[in-house]
Amino acid sequence: MKEKLTLMIPGPTPVPERVLHAISKHPIGHRSPEFQEIVEKTTILLKWLHQTTSDVLTITGSGTAAMEAGIINTLSKGDRVICGENGKFGQRWVKIAKTYGLDVITVKANWGEPLNPKKFQQILKNDPTIRAVIITHSETSTGVINNLEEISTYVKAHNNAIMIADCVTSIGACNVPMDKWGIDVIASGSQKGFMIPPGLSFVAMSEKAWEANKRSDLPRFYLDLNAYKKAVDKHSNPFTPSINLYFGLQEAMTMMKEEGLDSIFRRHEKHKNAIQTSMKSIGLDLFAQQGFGSPSITSIIPKNIDAEEIRKSVKNDFDILLAGGQDHLKGNIFRIGHLGFINDRDILTVIAAIETTLDKLGVASKPIGTGIETASKILNAIN
Ligand SMILES: *Cc1c(COP(=O)(O)O)cnc(C)c1O
Repeated sequence: MKEKLTLMIPGPTPVPERVLHAISKHPIGHRSPEFQEIVEKTTILLKWLHQTTSDVLTITGSGTAAMEAGIINTLSKGDRVICGENGKFGQRWVKIAKTYGLDVITVKANWGEPLNPKKFQQILKNDPTIRAVIITHSETSTGVINNLEEISTYVKAHNNAIMIADCVTSIGACNVPMDKWGIDVIASGSQKGFMIPPGLSFVAMSEKAWEANKRSDLPRFYLDLNAYKKAVDKHSNPFTPSINLYFGLQEAMTMMKEEGLDSIFRRHEKHKNAIQTSMKSIGLDLFAQQGFGSPSITSIIPKNIDAEEIRKSVKNDFDILLAGGQDHLKGNIFRIGHLGFINDRDILTVIAAIETTLDKLGVASKPIGTGIETASKILNAIN
């Protein structure tokens, strides 16, 4: 039976039935008052999610479109920027920045370790010409969460620089208060914490980011955020957006509002703890440095077996899709996505599937049920 695929990868994530129903309607005209009402409502909800009074603009495109938009709308050719790089998505920032001729200083950390905020502070202190600090908040490739809050404080203390962050797997999973932390640009995408299929991305722009926009000279057309800002002020879109995904966005954001931000963050925290603790209890190591595990994805190092074998077996026997390691990590780790529309049952199921699979493949070091016993204590704890 191959009709019950459960996605436990860090995007696309499972889509609630309410959202699927909302999407599966005839499109409506994107210049109609009915659609304008959806743009107005979703924009208010997006601001709520970002905890900001600034603009949050919706682009039809994947998360990378929002990342690229963030760079090309605030910077100029030759601008000196600092990019944090401790995984695949940090590398993507570096590639985009170099594509547009920016002068990139990279601050690196080993994959699996967080970026050291003090390194950013030091460079910023000694170089008044830095125009932006660009980092990935939750580094999906390794399952590490970077200290965006602390890095932002050093950017705030600098006169010229703006803070640009990829929050694709942190927004909607943990607290990302844009205004409080002073983040200037936040990029995210629909197929992650938003519980919608891929196709929409979001870019939030602070006042300081719009100031930077005035002097920015990089070429842009489809991703010119001035056009999106002008349109959104009239509850519209500059081009034909993915109208049906907007239906889904409205429904998904309504569900998030019903659950409440704190409950959403607590749920992700609980699931992260359940996965981390249960995997350790069955003798597996976590790839992310202790204390820096992402709220939405956990990387696991299996023992005495290729991680791809575990992944294949879990997919084959249980129809649960786990993510593999990227680049040099392929075969060395597998990753469990626990982001978005995930409940306690999904967590128990994936742990049971992994325990059963390790036993079947002859590499279990603990009796079946050990992981479940550990996880159930966390899931049952009153919060
Ligand atoms: C998924 C993801 C993206 C966006 O990738 P797209 O395929 O363009 O949607 C960007 N950054 C991170 C950290 C991600 O997890």
